[in-house]
Amino acid sequence: MEFKNNDARNTYEQLDERLKDVAYEMSVWCKENNLPFVITRCVGPRSKTSVTDIHADKRAFDSSVRGWSIDCCHKFADTFNEKFAKEIGAIAKSTHEPILVVYHNSGEGWHLHNQVRKL
Ligand SMILES: [Zn+2]
Repeated sequence: MEFKNNDARNTYEQLDERLKDVAYEMSVWCKENNLPFVITRCVGPRSKTSVTDIHADKRAFDSSVRGWSIDCCHKFADTFNEKFAKEIGAIAKSTHEPILVVYHNSGEGWHLHNQVRKL
């Protein structure tokens, strides 16, 4: 597991414990698949392009897909959504379904947004 910058590194510890457990499993999966796992953003104020304030609420982190194929991005999202979405994924505003990993471009480039439900 790597961090893009000090801000991501310094706010990682504040994340919801369930999310840190998931991040660990993700780092193992990435290692097995020879993919870099770089956390780019953890806790912070709502950005201009953000749909929700879930990062401010310590229930989401973003990770980079630099060097990843699109297939890998989807495989990652499918793998962790199948494993965790039903149990702990945050409820999507658009579909009202629980989702843990969102592969999207919210205006600042394609990335993986990983989120958990409010306890
Ligand atoms: Zn995000």
